[in-house]
Amino acid sequence: MEKVSARLAALAESQTLAMSQKSKDLKAQGHNVIDLSVGEPDFHTPDFVKNAAKKAIDDNFSFYSPVPGYRDLLEAISAKLKRENNLDYAPEQIVVSNGAKQSLTNILLCLVDKDDEVIVPAPYWVSYVELVKLAEGKSVVIETNIKDNFKITIKQLEEAITPKTKMLILCSPSNPTGSIYTHDELVAISKVIEKHPNIFVISDEIYEHINFVGKHESFAQFESIRDRVIIINGVSKGYAMTGWRIGYSASAKWIAKACIKLQGQTTSGASSIAQKASTAAINSDGSYPAEMRKGFEKRRNFMVDALSKIKGFNTNVPQGAFYIFPEISYFFGKSDGKTTIKNSDDFAMFLLNTAHVALVPGSAFGAPDYIRFSYAASDAQLKDACERIAKAVELLK
Ligand code: PMP
Ligand code: GLU
Repeated sequence: MEKVSARLAALAESQTLAMSQKSKDLKAQGHNVIDLSVGEPDFHTPDFVKNAAKKAIDDNFSFYSPVPGYRDLLEAISAKLKRENNLDYAPEQIVVSNGAKQSLTNILLCLVDKDDEVIVPAPYWVSYVELVKLAEGKSVVIETNIKDNFKITIKQLEEAITPKTKMLILCSPSNPTGSIYTHDELVAISKVIEKHPNIFVISDEIYEHINFVGKHESFAQFESIRDRVIIINGVSKGYAMTGWRIGYSASAKWIAKACIKLQGQTTSGASSIAQKASTAAINSDGSYPAEMRKGFEKRRNFMVDALSKIKGFNTNVPQGAFYIFPEISYFFGKSDGKTTIKNSDDFAMFLLNTAHVALVPGSAFGAPDYIRFSYAASDAQLKDACERIAKAVELLK
């Protein structure tokens, strides 16, 4: 009998990856699809990083790596946290994994018990609530909207906290909204966490280098709660290395030890070659991410301008990452004569089938009135995509 575990049955498929697959399938059938669904830089991994990987192969880094990662990579991350974020983390507090996704999984499985509550501000990145489910915890979602630039208020946070609250997940710069919490906003959140000594905070900082408004503010900067904050980061976004699969956590030593125990039984150390490549990336002077950021900012400006000219797309100005998250409920109830758009899923399918532009419906991020564009694509593709969308939505009456 084909029967998966209840744990798996309860898990939703990753909608970002599913939408990207749909777009690949359509392309394979010969359709000219513009894929703005999955969030990954369209830049190439820099040559100095590729060369470090080639050297690692020639130097026979072909054996199992230590479970938490090679010492030189852990030291490079520790030095980066000091240099770029002014944070003191010993190499023993860092665990390298197969992408930030695994780092998040490790932390949730190591800290969350059955029925523990995890506060997740929405719009949230697709995998948070599913990973909480996998850990048998319960997501407590705080809703935010475009008027507030998708940021939670202190009142909302205080109201969401119960005696069962184990954790808060923050993501700044945010996927899917591009919002960034200011220093003062983070201070205010830290004051709430200070009052609740049993609450941990995952601070997902994977988009730290893609910030159009200033210097990255890490949530781990507050001494009084430092031991309860877990930084998640990696090389996927900052160094255009999504396929290399290297992420990391930085946390209190006992949490790192727990992750090492779990990872030792599940995946062992991450790829030896990719770790050597990541060491070169993290030790570099920051000019590569800075170059990409400039490119993304130009595209952000283009997208804000282009979408604000299409009736029905209510857009704010994202401050970082490479996503724009317009509100599109204007189209609900409208029809092209064949399909009636009832929700963001219908709208995303309509745009995929009619305009051949792949996007991810807001429902995937707990925000069903919205749709996500990943503008990590060429200027020409973005222009073409916006023109196609403008034309397609004219059919909706
Ligand atoms: N967190 C966020 C907010 C992300 O957007 C991503 C992108 N996939 C990840 C974590 C996971 O990144 P990685 O590629 O390192 O697994
Ligand atoms: N984080 C990216 C996204 O949101 C990559 C896909 C994924 O890992 O879900 O599209």
